[in-house]
Order: sequence, then C-alpha cells, then structure tokens
Amino acid sequence: MAIAVVRNDNMTDVWKDALRAQAPDVPVYGPGEDFRESDIKMAAVWKHPPGSLKTYPYLLGIQGLGAGVDFIFEDTEIREDLPIMRVVDPYLASDMAEFVLAVATGMLKRLQYYKYNESLSLWKPKTYQRFKEVTVGIMGLGKLGLAVAQSLESAGFSVVGWTRNSLPKVRFEVFRGSAERTRFLKRSEILVCLLPLTPGTRGILNRDVFKTLPKGARLINVARGPLLEDGDLLYALDQGMLSEACLDVFHTEPLPQDHPFWKHPAVHITPHIASVSDPKSVAPQIISNYRKLIKGAVPENIVSRSAGY
Ligand code: NAP
Repeated sequence: MAIAVVRNDNMTDVWKDALRAQAPDVPVYGPGEDFRESDIKMAAVWKHPPGSLKTYPYLLGIQGLGAGVDFIFEDTEIREDLPIMRVVDPYLASDMAEFVLAVATGMLKRLQYYKYNESLSLWKPKTYQRFKEVTVGIMGLGKLGLAVAQSLESAGFSVVGWTRNSLPKVRFEVFRGSAERTRFLKRSEILVCLLPLTPGTRGILNRDVFKTLPKGARLINVARGPLLEDGDLLYALDQGMLSEACLDVFHTEPLPQDHPFWKHPAVHITPHIASVSDPKSVAPQIISNYRKLIKGAVPENIVSRSAGY
C-alpha cells in the first residue's frame, strides 16, 4: 500500500522526501514511476491535471496539499465516494497572518509609493495613517481568517469579520451571510479576502462590493483569483472607489504578461506566496490520514462536498 504525490509544479520530490522522512515504512511515488495501481491508496495532490487521478482506481481518499481544495472539486472525474481532506497547519495560519499584517502596514505607511518615488529619486512626503485609526474587514473567519484577525488586533487595528453561518467566539463584531454583508462592507476600510473558492463565492469581489466599501478603501486578496472580477477592480480603482489593491492570487497563474494588473500603479502583485504549505510541518498529518484510511478510520480535516470547502 502506498501514497502517490501528484502536483503541477516542481515540488513533487520535496513532498515525497518529506513524507518518506516522516514514515520510512510507507512507499511514496510520483506519476510515471514503477508502482502497482492497486497499491496506491491515497493521492496527495496540488493542482493535479483534471482526470489524472483515474490512474489510481483503488484510492481510499484524496489529500489536498494546501488549505484550499477548489481545484479538487473542479476535477469532475474524481469518484464521489472518496473523502477529500485539506491541510490545517499552524504555519499556514501564522504565515498568512504575518503576510497580511505586512501588506496592511505597507499600505498605511505608503511603502510602495516611496519605493516607486525612490526609483525616480523623488523626495515627496505624504500623510500616513495609524493602525488604531483603521478598521480591517476580513471575509472568511476560518483557520486563516481568525489568525489574521488576531494578529491585526494585536497590532492595534480594529477588526470586523464576515462568515457564512458560524459565529466564532471573538471580541470583535462578526457579520453573517448575505443579509449582513452590506453592514460588514460599510465598515471595512481595508478588505481582506480569505474565503474559499466555491460556487457561492466565485466573483464575489465585484463592483457592487467595491461601491459599498468606504470611499478609497483598500483590497487585499489572498484567497483565490476567481473570487475577483478583474475588470471590476480596475474600474473601481480608476473611479476612486478603491485606492489600491494587493493581489496574491489570480485567475491564471502565473499572471499573464499582458494582464493590465502588471502595469496598474495601484495594483501590487505577489506570486501566490502569502502562505505556502511547509512539507516538513504538514507531513505528519498526511501520514496520519493515510494510516487512518488504510485502517478504515475517519481521516482529519475532511471537507464538505456540499459546501465546497
Ligand atoms: P476555512 O477554515 O475553510 O474558512 C473559510 C471561511 O470562509 C469560513 O469562515 C466560512 O464561513 C467562510 N465562508 C465560506 N463561504 C462563505 C460564503 N459564501 N459567505 C461568507 N463566508 C463564507 O478556510 P481557511 O483555511 O481559512 O482558508 C481560506 C482560503 O485561503 C482557502 O480556501 C484558500 O483558497 C486560501 N489560501 C490562500 C493561500 C495563499 O497563499 N494565498 C494560502 C492558503 C490558503 P463559516 O465559518 O460560516 O463556515
């Protein structure tokens, strides 16, 4: 019995090594290697080519190698009966919290503006804001959203949050569902998106949302590219509804060279690095889930097929 690692990038060997180091008794293979089909009981995947898991007809479960599992649900050829698990990891949460705090800090202290001016040898001071003067609205208060909220609050920001159903036990105000969305948005001077990509959230960062935010609000999208209507963001920036946006995720990654985001002065781009699964830290939960699957036990962090996350 064995695990197959299937990824769309050059990290397959790093993951195989981390899993082998965690459990030397468990065979771990990559695509194209010499294994018996019937041996592969778990596929550990990141953006695998859709349909490619049909190569493993004896799977007992699919383990996503990140927090988001949208790419697994987009593969219409996976068996309906298989449990799908995702990664929940303290580093994934703390890395995201550090990233969002850094971006929000850079926005309020205008670090991108000064970097640009430096390239022109331009000495041009501008006003700045203090953390305690600004409210950050966090869309999605899951594992990552809550960690982000905690770090922003500790730094002095005011925070509000938005969820689908849940009401986490936190000191800040939480709004729920579409009925309370407008009240949430009206408070959000910096909007941080940490929603999963599902049929209910696709395109949610759109012109209506941008119109509802306080004038000149800022956007940080660290969730998934298709949550954002790209054209609506450009419109909102050009109309002054929003003043700037930091985007870590895109419809197509890498972001195509001719995409207007690259040249827009108010759009700041990072290449999907806000928080990256750390193979060494994550390997124990993958091996534990694998052992549970082959024992017939229930693995950890199964996502809901009906909710899509
Ligand atoms: P999570 O624990 O599943 O939390 C998701 C949150 O979103 C929950 O609070 C949920 O509400 C809320 N939500 C879902 N659908 C909603 C809707 N229709 N309306 C309002 N709220 C909704 O997810 P997570 O682990 O925090 O991760 C969030 C996302 O971050 C992942 O799905 C992934 O796409 C992205 N991510 C990005 C990076 C990066 O490097 N850029 C790294 C890791 C993850 P309830 O509480 O009511 O369920």
